[in-house]
Amino acid sequence: MFGKDLSNGAVANVKHIKNPISRARLVMEKTKHVLFAGDGAEKLAQSFGINLVDENYFIVPDELKNWLNKKESLEKNKGGTVGCVALDKYGNLAAATSTGGRFFKPPGRVGDSPLVNAGTYANNKTCAVSCTGTGEEFIRNTVAYKISALIEFKNYSLQRAADQLIFKVLKPGDGGLIAIDKNGNYVMPFSTKAMLRGVVTSNGVFETKIWK
Ligand code: ASP
Repeated sequence: MFGKDLSNGAVANVKHIKNPISRARLVMEKTKHVLFAGDGAEKLAQSFGINLVDENYFIVPDELKNWLNKKESLEKNKGGTVGCVALDKYGNLAAATSTGGRFFKPPGRVGDSPLVNAGTYANNKTCAVSCTGTGEEFIRNTVAYKISALIEFKNYSLQRAADQLIFKVLKPGDGGLIAIDKNGNYVMPFSTKAMLRGVVTSNGVFETKIWK
């Protein structure tokens, strides 16, 4: 999602698309629609000359072993999501989220990541947000948009707005998010045990973290 004009694009339920965020960008830039799912999304990618990949491409042998060994605990504790938020020197904010979804999700289930307002949101007037966690809760509570709305309509700081959603609206363990506001303030709150995260700024901050 591009915060300058609120343009956005998403793909959901795709199994053969190597770089879903780039394909989501095609939806944003080359169509008048915002969300394509399943076969239609894959056909659209092909119509733009993108080659599909075999499902095996996504299998990482070590991860598969891990999954088979720890099925039960993984079900409770883990997802696999990559999100990004950015502010450029012109004041443009952008957000993007890519996910394999929750472990053991039933076929056809779509989480919050491709849903603008739930798992992803950007608006130059306020902030850019990318979420991770139990998608259903982020959808029910319109998490990403609400952070922007608290800033826009209630003058909250980014920190206060993000903490409100993660620690007061959502339940402990539901997930976390990364967000940056129009002034370059950033936050990465989470209520899970850990969240892999990192930040790079133009004045030399280069940091990665896992635990609190
Ligand atoms: N939020 C994603 C979903 O519900 C998964 C995750 O972030 O772990 O599909």
